[in-house]
Amino acid sequence: MAERCDTLLLNGTVVTMDARQRVIGDGAVAITGNQIVAVGPSAALVAAYVPRQAIDCLGCAIIPGLINGHAHVPMTLLRGVAADMQLDVWLFGYMFPLEQRFCDARFVATGARLACAEMLRGGVTTFVDMYYFEDEVARAAADAGMRAICGQAVMRLPTPDAASLDEGLARARRFIADWHGHERITPTIAPHAPYTCTDEIYHEAAALCRQYGIPLLTHLSETAREVQEFRAERQQTPIAYARDVGAFGVHCIAAHCVHATDEDMRIMQQHGVGVVTCPGSNLKLASGLPPIRAFLDAGLRLGLGTDGPASNDDQDMFGEMLLAAIVPKAASADPTVVPARQAFALATSSGAGAIGMAHLIGSLEVGKRADVTIVELGRAHSTPRYRYDPDAIYSTLVYAARAADVRDVFVDGRAVVRDRTVMTLDEAAVLRDAQAIADRIDQFLIEREADLLDKIIVIAGVRSDEQFEVQAKARLATPAAVERVLAALHDPAITLGKVSERTQYDTFFLWDDATLGRIRIREDRRTDPGARPTPKYTLTLTGALRRHTGHPALIVGHARYTAVADQPIRFYREYFAPDRVVEVQKQRRRWRIRFRGEDLAVNLDHLLGRDDPATYLEIKSRTWSARDAAVKAQLITELLAQFGIDEQTLVNREYVDL
Ligand SMILES: [Zn+2]
Repeated sequence: MAERCDTLLLNGTVVTMDARQRVIGDGAVAITGNQIVAVGPSAALVAAYVPRQAIDCLGCAIIPGLINGHAHVPMTLLRGVAADMQLDVWLFGYMFPLEQRFCDARFVATGARLACAEMLRGGVTTFVDMYYFEDEVARAAADAGMRAICGQAVMRLPTPDAASLDEGLARARRFIADWHGHERITPTIAPHAPYTCTDEIYHEAAALCRQYGIPLLTHLSETAREVQEFRAERQQTPIAYARDVGAFGVHCIAAHCVHATDEDMRIMQQHGVGVVTCPGSNLKLASGLPPIRAFLDAGLRLGLGTDGPASNDDQDMFGEMLLAAIVPKAASADPTVVPARQAFALATSSGAGAIGMAHLIGSLEVGKRADVTIVELGRAHSTPRYRYDPDAIYSTLVYAARAADVRDVFVDGRAVVRDRTVMTLDEAAVLRDAQAIADRIDQFLIEREADLLDKIIVIAGVRSDEQFEVQAKARLATPAAVERVLAALHDPAITLGKVSERTQYDTFFLWDDATLGRIRIREDRRTDPGARPTPKYTLTLTGALRRHTGHPALIVGHARYTAVADQPIRFYREYFAPDRVVEVQKQRRRWRIRFRGEDLAVNLDHLLGRDDPATYLEIKSRTWSARDAAVKAQLITELLAQFGIDEQTLVNREYVDL
């Protein structure tokens, strides 16, 4: 007597990924409810089952639904916004400011829906996510009919959805309580990474995960620099640290681990950590080559992920499987190192183990959830097929097949993609909403990129008021001229204030279009005894210089912004992309003076690294008003006379222009 079943997928090549890794040439899968009830030859299952619906999979592979083990899916909206930059420029110049400004619940909901559509079309049935407003990701995944582990990201820095880490932890607690027990969504907490978190965050996260029996998500040892800096600061690797703060006391899903040491791998193996490698992201961000073979040799539970779509730029697990198979080959000069079958396992059976779901998904076996992807083969790029070697199907799937070959997708027995149409989402509306948000970001970037001040404000925060600087400069060619100035400083009309000595290293960014202004990054090192020992770094945007109309010998600088410069010069150079970079170094003696009731500064400068033995005299004053600048200009003119400076020695340019 034939039994009833809901769905019978038949006449396809069934790639089971079960313990024996059986491949059934003309195979079938029977589904009832959310479970797989039979896997076997088509003829046997046709005889045994009367299905509610039979789906012909002739010319197709029937594979376990793919598992994307690490993602930040709402970042689909930032796909293509900035690329080919150093990690810090990309992160601090673009990702963080854009997220701070645009990332809200609607952004997350829209980005997550777009990612679900993309992943479903590419045969992904389960994903592991880490982001802000994670309840919106959970809702999107639930609505799309997908399976997901959703981690509310927490870090010590303010995030788009939490002003402090306490708020972040509270949000994570609420999120988990709200979603715990959902059939397909596992809510959890995701401490971002050791370098962005605190011991307390990891302790709290581990306690929450223990309480609910859920996995802890985090990033570990993604870049060499991160590991190096962490070691210098804490005398241990990020991975050893994660163990010590309790992250491995529960099931931990750790992304990247590119720079894990042998000892790190041993620790992770001992604690059953699931490692998710993301070769596409590691390659694009130049984080390093993921040591996939070493992970496997260490006996780690290994999965595969796309990472965020801002650094990949897609959510395509076929692309990741290809990289997982070929990157280790190139890295080791050994083509046998990660065979296609093993790469395929990373996105299926092995990946399920890494995320702690091997009992539910990852293979086509009786009793497992019916998460199934049907991949059409026999297209121009996947023809012909060979059957002499059972492993040939893995070659076709990993080296030739593409996400766009996915024809149908089932999650929990429900058809979520049929004939390349996503059944659970209004895809056209999702794409429209995504572009509408992207248009707003685009407009913001267009305006920001056109204005240096806007570019500075985005990375350095608050705007300072405008400020004028009136200055006169003279070239003192002889020691006698210098002596004359020093003597004149002791004139009774002048009250001497603070005296200081410093070396200043200035880097100027200049543009061919001078109306853009110029940027100066200054390292100011005090050299007088007892002064502050650490240098001061500032970034100043000045407008175009002009001569003072009433006093042609004077120039008026117009500083529009000064901020603390807390990034390396390289960062600013890449971020601002100037047409020219000019360096000016000088030794400066400075006298603060009071003259006729006004404060001024007198500098005696000696330029370093130039064939110019002269000493330069600068008299400067700052003011907030243009009118006051005229008063200061008059005083400076008087001082010049007092110092015995004649017209010929005046220099109407700044050092950078000499
Ligand atoms: Zn990530």
